[in-house]
Amino acid sequence: MTDGTSMLRIEGLRKNYGAVAALQGVDIEVRRGEVLGLIGPNGSGKSTLFDCCTGLQKSDAGRVLLKGIDITDWPMNRIAREGRFLRSFQKTVVFPTLDCEENLVLAGQMSSFPNVLSTFWIGPSAKRRVSALRKRAKELIEITGLSRVAHLPAGNMSGGQQKLLQFASMLMPEPELILLDEPLAGINPILIEKVIQSIEHANRELGVTFVVIEHNTDVLMNLSHRVVVLHQGAKLADDTPEAVVKNPEVIEAYLGG
Ligand code: ADP
Ligand code: MG
Repeated sequence: MTDGTSMLRIEGLRKNYGAVAALQGVDIEVRRGEVLGLIGPNGSGKSTLFDCCTGLQKSDAGRVLLKGIDITDWPMNRIAREGRFLRSFQKTVVFPTLDCEENLVLAGQMSSFPNVLSTFWIGPSAKRRVSALRKRAKELIEITGLSRVAHLPAGNMSGGQQKLLQFASMLMPEPELILLDEPLAGINPILIEKVIQSIEHANRELGVTFVVIEHNTDVLMNLSHRVVVLHQGAKLADDTPEAVVKNPEVIEAYLGG
């Protein structure tokens, strides 16, 4: 659960695409340790909000603060490096000829995070580093429930299993904050349950803060400690899941249909 300190603070964020006002001055505070759900109709600005926070898009006005540091309009790689601040893309990316552990070790090697981790890792030999990555990879294979298929080349795993592997890859560099854009889209109910359990485990046991965009409202309400509703690029509600599902404006704009 959250200790109340700020992980990500979004202030007055605006983004226009030509005549389309995708974000019209949005304020959101994400607290360390929480799972914040983000919902809203198609086109309400959810993905744009992630894009502006991660440097994929340049905002027109407003500020984004990561742990109090103003990261507004920093380039994407700098945000990823300095913030251990990751997001998932809707397209699943794994290395198809490598098995789970190889995929995960590679994901760990490709990320360079010059803060807490590197203070431990400047000294040790590359061998020790790889063995630490292997150990973490094995733990994450366990956590995501991929043990049974872990020996297969990732390309031979199902789409849902590849998503789980991608999720495990995101956890390799020990991120503090993960933004997930529709992590359950297009996967079967059994694997949906595994993705949810993996998110909950990463939140509770590894202390990862999450912001999750998801259309499956039942799942999202269960998973989230708090829910923000966007509508036409503006914040319509910001409350507990229980209060949000009862909010007449939210029902009218989103849940009712
Ligand atoms: P959501 O993720 O909530 O469905 P988006 O953030 O994708 O909403 O889109 C918000 C609005 O901005 C929509 O009207 C969409 O068409 C528009 N939009 C999003 N991305 C772009 C883009 N790269 N170029 C132009 N318009 C965009
Ligand atoms: Mg979207």
